[in-house]
Amino acid sequence: MALAAVGNSALSGAARAAAPGPYDVIIVGGGSAGAVMAARLSADKSRRVLLIEAGANFAPDKYPPVLANANIVAGSPNFDWNYHTDDKASIGHDIPVPRGRVVGGSSAVNAAVAMRARYTDFERWTKLGIEGWSWEEVLPTFKKLENTPTGESRWHGRNGPLPIRQRTPEENTPSMRRPHQYRDGVSHERSPCPAQS
Ligand SMILES: Cc1cc2nc3c(=O)[nH]c(=O)nc-3n(C[C@H](O)[C@H](O)[C@H](O)COP(=O)(O)OP(=O)(O)OC[C@H]3O[C@@H](n4cnc5c(N)ncnc54)[C@H](O)[C@@H]3O)c2cc1C
Repeated sequence: MALAAVGNSALSGAARAAAPGPYDVIIVGGGSAGAVMAARLSADKSRRVLLIEAGANFAPDKYPPVLANANIVAGSPNFDWNYHTDDKASIGHDIPVPRGRVVGGSSAVNAAVAMRARYTDFERWTKLGIEGWSWEEVLPTFKKLENTPTGESRWHGRNGPLPIRQRTPEENTPSMRRPHQYRDGVSHERSPCPAQS
């Protein structure tokens, strides 16, 4: 796979060197979707894949803290498209709409929260006639992409490409603990299974 990270200006020397074609597949945008597609497609060594990204590229261990620290969300205009709504006339100010501009895309500027949809959502979609998206059908894919040491193996994956770590109740802040513990004014135990939460 070749990666052309264009940055804010012209193709850098390294990117230009990586870029000569021809290519079987060209993917524009090295964000959550594009980078995964590029990785999966280029697993077949005979397929030539070019991934073009408008923002900067960093080695995995060289991302600046403003990107690497998931507690900083959309922290720098240098790695953002700096979009905003056009609301000044009606509400007095525009509203920022962050979107990452860097290899990793918005997943490089997001909060890195991994959350499955609720069991009841999948049930509802099935009742609406959407085929192939029942809880039972999507569970193997959730498990396949996940790599987590906690939870029960019938619900969680151990060897997937996406490291997911469940915070312990102690690691959660009091404000995160509160709604779960006292939902509906009743004290709830932690649910061991996403299908039951
Ligand atoms: C502030 C914020 C917080 C979020 N928090 C979470 C969270 O905690 N958990 C979660 O699951 N989701 C979260 N999300 C949502 C999640 O990050 C996005 O849904 C997901 O990253 C979108 O993936 P994507 O591939 O569609 O787009 P992106 O990841 O945004 O990728 C698009 C890529 O294309 C590039 N690009 C665009 N135009 C061009 C062009 N013309 N030429 C070359 N490159 C181009 C961009 O620079 C970018 O890198 C958050 C999103 C934001 C913005």
